[in-house]
Formats: sequence, structure tokens, C-alpha cells
Amino acid sequence: MNESRSPVREAAVSRAPRVLIVEDEQALALLLSYNLEAEGYLVDRADRGDEAELRLVENPPDLVILDWMLPGVSGLEICRRLRAREETRTLPVIMLTARGEEAERVRGLSVGADDYVVKPFSVPELMARVRSLLRRASPERVSGKLVAGEIELNRETRRVRRASRDIHLGPTEFRLLEYLMEKPGRVFSRAQLLDAVWGLSSEIDERTVDVHVGRLRKALVRGRERDPIRTVRGAGYSFDETFGKA
Ligand code: CA
Repeated sequence: MNESRSPVREAAVSRAPRVLIVEDEQALALLLSYNLEAEGYLVDRADRGDEAELRLVENPPDLVILDWMLPGVSGLEICRRLRAREETRTLPVIMLTARGEEAERVRGLSVGADDYVVKPFSVPELMARVRSLLRRASPERVSGKLVAGEIELNRETRRVRRASRDIHLGPTEFRLLEYLMEKPGRVFSRAQLLDAVWGLSSEIDERTVDVHVGRLRKALVRGRERDPIRTVRGAGYSFDETFGKA
């Protein structure tokens, strides 16, 4: 086992929502990025429209703050394309613009922006809109608890319980369970889990995943209790979506 190779991996990933800022005004982009990071979001930035499109395809965020006037491709056009693609059809988009005319606002909303903010705007106001859109789009991301049958994972207290007993998990097992519970039924390959849970996929052997799944199971399942984690041969692992429902 080569687990000792990456001591940083335990802390590598947080489940904070990811926000992409697409804005060519550097000062504004920095201000937004600073404020979003202070609220615990993971922030990515692009200062050109074409660059933003690449990011959106390669690594779709949980929300986009999109300036209207951009070099490369306009924000309006990016928004239209996002709505045309299946994977990004419901991705929350907040459009920023210097133009405050009603006609422009209508145009922005008509290509599918979820919200529309006119510059100059108040940063706390924008932060409130970000929070509210994320809450609407992915409640599981902002909810403090994940529950499946008798298993409850609390993100705020970092505690896991099964029925009435406390389950003691190491940070990697906690993270692994959290990730699997967020999408019950979905099968993740070992490479996907490494990427999501360890964040350093190229450095760690895929068998490490098996080791940690094994530890997680050992902690979760006692005696004849049902195992909530499915091993899908040749594919990977998933949290059994029928757990607690059958
Ligand atoms: Ca601009």
C-alpha cells in the first residue's frame, strides 16, 4: 500500500460549492472572488468568454457569475449556449451588466439567466443572491445533513450515526461516505472517487479506494446489518439507493 505518499490528501477537498466568475474587469473579479472565498466557496475565474466556455465544459461549476460584455464570446451568448446543452441546462447563472435598461434586462432573462444584476451593485446583495440560487438548485449541497434510512451524516458537526450509535470515521472515510450519499444509486469509478475524495488522482493507486471503502464498511456495518455500499464489479462503488427504503 502506498498511502503514506500523500499526507496532504486528507485535507485536499472540501464540499463547498464551486463558483465560476467570468468577468474581464480585474478589480471586480478580485473583489467577488475575495468575498465568495470568505463565505467558503471554491472560486474559479475566467476573464474571456472563450476561456469561460472551455472551463464550463471541462469542469462545470455549481454556479456562474457571468458578465455581459466580455472579450471573446459575450456573456449573453455563453448563457444561451449553456441553456442549449443538456449538462448545463439548469446551471444557475447570474448575469452582470453595466446597462440597466429594462430592455436589456429582459434580453438577459430571455436567454435563460436566473438572475440579473446591474453594475454597480452591492456585494452583500450579490452574495445573498448566490446563496439563494444555490439553495434552490442543489439543496443537498447546502443542507447540513444527509440522511438515508437509519444512517445520518451531519456536515456541520462532522458526525455520522447509524440508528442510535455513533460511527467513528477518519476524514477520508467521512468524505467518501459524504460523496457517495450525495448521489444515491450513482456508480462512481475508483478514478472518480480518487479525484473527488483525494483530489490527487494521479498520485495515488486506485486500490487505495478499496482500502478506504473497506474501512468505511467495517465502521458502518455491525453484525447482520445491511451494507449500504454496493460494489459494482468492473465499475466501482455506489451508495445503495434502496437502502432504508426497502
Ligand atoms: Ca465586461
